Amino acid sequence: MNFSNKLVSWYQVNKRDLPWRNTTNAYYIWLSEIILQQTRVWQGTPYYLAFVNAYPKIEDLANAPEDEVLKMWQGLGYYSRARNLHFTAKDIVVNYGGKFPNNYQEILKLKGVGSYTAAAITSFAFGLPYAVVDGNVIRVLSRIFGVDTPYDTPLGKKQFQELAQELLIKENSSVYNQAIMEFGALQCKPKSPDCSVCPMQDFCEAYNNNTIAELPVKSKKIKVKNRFLHFLMIEKKGKVYLGKRKSGIWQGLYEFPFLEFSDRINEKELLSSEEWVDIFADAKVEMQSISPEFIHVLSHQKLYAKFWKVKTNDINLKNYQLIAKEELENYPVSRLIEKYFETLKLT
Ligand code: SF4
Repeated sequence: MNFSNKLVSWYQVNKRDLPWRNTTNAYYIWLSEIILQQTRVWQGTPYYLAFVNAYPKIEDLANAPEDEVLKMWQGLGYYSRARNLHFTAKDIVVNYGGKFPNNYQEILKLKGVGSYTAAAITSFAFGLPYAVVDGNVIRVLSRIFGVDTPYDTPLGKKQFQELAQELLIKENSSVYNQAIMEFGALQCKPKSPDCSVCPMQDFCEAYNNNTIAELPVKSKKIKVKNRFLHFLMIEKKGKVYLGKRKSGIWQGLYEFPFLEFSDRINEKELLSSEEWVDIFADAKVEMQSISPEFIHVLSHQKLYAKFWKVKTNDINLKNYQLIAKEELENYPVSRLIEKYFETLKLT
């Protein structure tokens, strides 16, 4: 039996029963694929079920208010996915008559859809012969076939795509694609792959040459930027200032005014900083609490955040609205602010 057939046999025995695997509805498959980008299956599944339940048809998602969609997404991170999801639902309703496009090139034009997602939707929903290449597929191919070209280079991308396409069982692309991704997720895991019970062991280059830990190869190391943020939960007459973010990864989400510094600073330095004075000037400010530091890791940034709860009746902030404290939880916020809210509930 060749590699591809072995893989499918392994899949028939080992696959997980996941809700998006029981449908060929392109809308549902697209939803699941966007939710699962950068997200683990156990974490994404309740979100997928909630979206399908709240928006059973693409028109339902298109017609939903953006705040509602972002609130549903809260906690999943990478919020551009939720904004693209909403944009694309509207795009399909307006420009495709509400019918999900059924070919690779058209699907690839949709906002938030790259080559992996387009291949996944075309093969899972329409059975078309496009091979998926994601992190799991790269790891499996790299180890079994001993490919050591860095996968984040143009040459590496081309080689992995061509190899994946060559191995694809074209008349059974949906099952084959699911099988190779599942094999990467469950068997040939990044750390401690289950080699001792692996059906590919005999011909796996990495296993036989003892290079599992070195494969796959990546060329670039992402430089992580440290940011020091001080969020201000400013209470005025029983309400709190909250604003809607206009750009960046948290666009569309609500947040407190914040001050940013390039290094960690103490309370005295904060209170005498220009940034603080710009907001409070001569206002009488009652300091209520300072949170411990929260560390929040994003793909290219490490955020060190503190929350300052203060009271003042003397300032008026432009671009922020005053919101009753008990209504704060109705607004979509980043996971970082949500974590702070969770600590407030405990006090
Ligand atoms: S033998 Fe080990 S490294 Fe090779 S495919 Fe199987 S699990 Fe992965």
